[in-house]
Amino acid sequence: MGIELQRVKPFEICSIRPPTENSSLTFRLTRNCYWNRCAFCPVYKYGARFSRRDIGEVLEDIRRAKLIDDLMFEHSIGVVSHGGDEFARADELAAAVERACREAGEDGAGRPEMTSADIDPRLAWFHSWFKDSPDMTHAFRHVLSWRIVGGRTCFFGDADSLILNPDFLRRVIDHVKLSFPSVQRFTVYGRTATAAGKRSTADLEAFREAGLDRVHFGLESGCDAVLSLVNKGVSSQEHAEGFLKTREAGLSCSAYVMPGLGGKSLSEEHAADTARLITRIIPDFVRLRTLEIFPNTPLEEKAKAGEFIEADEEQVVREIRTLVEEIDCRTVLMSDSATNLLDVQGRLPEDRKNMLAEIERYLGLDARGKLEFSLRSRISSFYGQYGGLTADIYREVGPYLRQEGLDFTRASDDDLRRGIVVIREKLMP
Ligand code: SF4
Repeated sequence: MGIELQRVKPFEICSIRPPTENSSLTFRLTRNCYWNRCAFCPVYKYGARFSRRDIGEVLEDIRRAKLIDDLMFEHSIGVVSHGGDEFARADELAAAVERACREAGEDGAGRPEMTSADIDPRLAWFHSWFKDSPDMTHAFRHVLSWRIVGGRTCFFGDADSLILNPDFLRRVIDHVKLSFPSVQRFTVYGRTATAAGKRSTADLEAFREAGLDRVHFGLESGCDAVLSLVNKGVSSQEHAEGFLKTREAGLSCSAYVMPGLGGKSLSEEHAADTARLITRIIPDFVRLRTLEIFPNTPLEEKAKAGEFIEADEEQVVREIRTLVEEIDCRTVLMSDSATNLLDVQGRLPEDRKNMLAEIERYLGLDARGKLEFSLRSRISSFYGQYGGLTADIYREVGPYLRQEGLDFTRASDDDLRRGIVVIREKLMP
């Protein structure tokens, strides 16, 4: 007998996760961010406050994910290619489950924690991608994406899973392995402040022994003046202590760095101090996320009050040049965010020369060339991230689209600037 549809329920997933975990199976072990004060961060400023989830709730979510996976397997979705759209088939099945739940008098759809009235309209785009509560279609699509790329990775959110008790994580990982034996890698986000001040080396080793493989740390900067300006709640010394302690416990560590975060005035110190911090802590990966000032964040308030002057694109590229020139350790620099203007990435030190050549090519353009380059790059990033253009972006850039590509000959500099702004405010960090 097949799975009864009304038994299937959605589970909570992590909308915010590293790009390398885009197709991972995800489970929320905590909700949101207990710090939630970084001035640039738009992520958890709405919706439920920080909470730790009960082990029973998490195990129930794993059970729900397993039931969805089994049901899709029963319907051969994501298992063999039907030459059609597997996601459309998963959507149909999710809709059938919702109908069955309704008919059985059960709530299968999940309940939104926020309504559109709670959300600043300028952040509506961002929130259309952010699911803070279980959603049936989303849960089916989530499991399907994970299944069709091989079902090997799992991410636990939200913002800092290092605050968990290692035994809690062990129970969760054991349960995931039992339910989904194909999973081979487990990763989390962590705060260096937690690793430095709240966790012993033995705790971090216990995380590794429990099965955790990698921690993604949002360092943003190695410059104390910048960390204090954006209220990161941690010093560069604590960044180093937390990071090194985690590495020494045998966990792989990624470092997120945010070019532009020092604004105009701290641009050079931001880049130089960050290069020094990276050299000291030797991350496995350094991931660049260029600053975007999101509406309704404390940083936007500072910018409006004239307390923060945004670095221009050329200045941001010079910061990246400093990083590439001055990071003096063996690491991999990644540009895996749509917020970055240039696709500068590679191994250090081996690829330093090529990366610098790419940077110099941009810096060598005249002012008009830089604007055209920027709009082309932003269009292509947006297309890459969302698979199409929105109506407002199309209004700005549509007139320049030709069959053979983009032709900006009839665009004024202001036209190009408007196009860049309209796209940048929709690029996710
Ligand atoms: S710690 Fe991370 S999630 Fe929390 S406010 Fe800062 S950037 Fe946002």
